[in-house]
Amino acid sequence: SRQFTRPLNDLANQFNTLLSAVAGAERVFEVIDEEEEQDMKGAIELDNIRGDVSFKNVSFSYEEKQKTISHVSFNVTAGETIALVGPTGAGKTTIINLLSRFYEPEVGTITIDEYDIRNVKRNSLRQHTGFVLQDSYLFQGTIRENIRYGRLEASDGEVEEAARLANAHSFIRNLPKGYDTILDQDGSGISQGQKQLLSIARVMLASPSILILDEATSSIDTITEIKIQEALQRLMKGRTSFVIAHRLNTIKQADQIFVLKDGQLSEKGTHNELLREKGYYYEMCTQLVNDEADHM
Ligand code: ADP
Repeated sequence: SRQFTRPLNDLANQFNTLLSAVAGAERVFEVIDEEEEQDMKGAIELDNIRGDVSFKNVSFSYEEKQKTISHVSFNVTAGETIALVGPTGAGKTTIINLLSRFYEPEVGTITIDEYDIRNVKRNSLRQHTGFVLQDSYLFQGTIRENIRYGRLEASDGEVEEAARLANAHSFIRNLPKGYDTILDQDGSGISQGQKQLLSIARVMLASPSILILDEATSSIDTITEIKIQEALQRLMKGRTSFVIAHRLNTIKQADQIFVLKDGQLSEKGTHNELLREKGYYYEMCTQLVNDEADHM
């Protein structure tokens, strides 16, 4: 597998690290390396965006033989929370990969605000998108550096403020070396949940208009879990958020639920709307309620 050779403060490198998490695919690295510098002629920078997102008849396949997603259309208004649900392999991650321009649609158009993302510089797009994924991407360096990675020019005060908002400040303060604690690449020495809080702090500092959240499936102790949920609520406020959601509670709270099935957007609406349809979502919820009850 590939080694990163660029310095860590290179944003593209951060992007590569995030990528492997989103797609889990070696191939993505190649795509990015090939395409990184290939923005369209006249591609634009986006200064400020509201965060409206739309897919218009988007189709895509990783391999020629098989359509991965077909004819997906939706509109998201800035600030909304979208839960992406559906079985493994349904295409949830692919939607995110396309929105983040890790891949390009074969057919159809993706817009952010009024801009076709094909005409936007990739780096510009990335600056407006923040990721909180199941694996948090920490690098060898201090906790302060790991948070500051969200916005390299941030002051120590701003780093701490982000950590406070992310409910990370108190655990950091309780470490013998506080913000100067050195983490290794795996972040060993702090818990899984604390790593999540650090990635939330990093994104808080970056303050993007669009968020991609991959809800953790692994178990985290209840107290930390509450801290994470609270920090995420704070982070998501006023931002367009796409959540690959596994928990009923998260799904219920979404402004829109997109149900993916075999690469198609088979149902979309609020929790109550979809329950009334008594379709796949209804079945899935019944299943989730039973599963969650089993774990109580
Ligand atoms: P989900 O996130 O809903 O589990 P994905 O979007 O990851 O689904 O996958 C949709 C389909 O695309 C699956 O059949 C998966 O095997 C396939 N797929 C995902 N990534 C790749 C890839 N890099 N190359 C080829 N096929 C892929």
